[in-house]
Amino acid sequence: MERALAIGGNPSSVHGQGRAARAEVEQAREAVAALAGARAQDVVFTSGGTEANALALWGAAQGAMEAGTRITRLFVSAIEHDSVLANAAALAERAPGLRLETIPVTSDGVVDLDALRALLREGKGRALVAVMAANNETGVVQPIADVAALLKEHEGYLLVDAVQAIGKIPFAASTADYVSLSAHKLGGPQGVGALVVREGAPLAATMRGGGQERGHRAGTENVAGIAGFGAAAKVATPLPAALRDRFEAELRSAVPDVVIFGEKATRLPNTSNFALPAVGAETAVMALDLEGVMVSSGSACSSGKVKPSHVLHAMSVPESIARSALRVSFGWNSTDQDVDAAISAISQLQSRVRSRAAA
Ligand code: PLP
Repeated sequence: MERALAIGGNPSSVHGQGRAARAEVEQAREAVAALAGARAQDVVFTSGGTEANALALWGAAQGAMEAGTRITRLFVSAIEHDSVLANAAALAERAPGLRLETIPVTSDGVVDLDALRALLREGKGRALVAVMAANNETGVVQPIADVAALLKEHEGYLLVDAVQAIGKIPFAASTADYVSLSAHKLGGPQGVGALVVREGAPLAATMRGGGQERGHRAGTENVAGIAGFGAAAKVATPLPAALRDRFEAELRSAVPDVVIFGEKATRLPNTSNFALPAVGAETAVMALDLEGVMVSSGSACSSGKVKPSHVLHAMSVPESIARSALRVSFGWNSTDQDVDAAISAISQLQSRVRSRAAA
């Protein structure tokens, strides 16, 4: 990134500094494509996962129309990231004749393939299906190959939000028409991502202007950010699950009534989403932070109120338990000592809350 910043040239310029900046962008494109199992020319750099999802949804609908066809059915899993849910809802409101349906998930947080099969059979018309590769709250890995196989029997396109999966588990973009990526989920910088677009899949630009990114996304490229994305992609290796597994085993012995979400499903190796039944998530996040243990609440906060997660709601988790949901993510640099510290802080918090309740 420092090297790219030092160049300073615009990658669209033909002079030497421009060509040097272009080389940084194209090297990164190769690295990101290699990690995603895609061709470099199919990678469109964006400002992140949110923009990649928005571009895929709006760009597919508009692109299909420009090609003289129409997407009339939009199927979105109930556990998608807000960037998919919000754009899908806005698109359905504005695109004439586009029907939006939600694909339910099982209590383990896995997309219900029978329900998707039934939804696809119910109607006619070109479909766009959005199912993420792995969920950002539970880490539950989704059956993308099965979704793609189901969709083969129908006319349609598949958007896979692989933001959480890429760089953590093996993932190949080849099963999907559109794949969203974000650099900061694999150790790269924030504010840069990509959409991988299968050759021939419709895609109209949502950001128009200078025609960068082969006309798919106008605007001078974020050269340093893209270089950082490429560097992170080059060194990304699948993470082992050992720390997460030890953490959960010790958590269970320290807090026997802990609820671990998606425990029976295949999950990302670094994610643990659980509820300490007696402890509110907000209290826990603050108390653990004081001990130097940084965890996320499984719930989204808006205007000071805890809003139970739509993911846990879709998994039929009772609201009283969802309000206690915490998420721990391990990174490439996490250690056994980190697990010890987290378990010790959580056990102390749990017994403090229990003894206060007893008193
Ligand atoms: N999709 C998923 C599954 C995510 O977890 C996130 C971010 O948390 C996004 C999309 C959005 O990515 P970005 O933060 O790069 O906009």
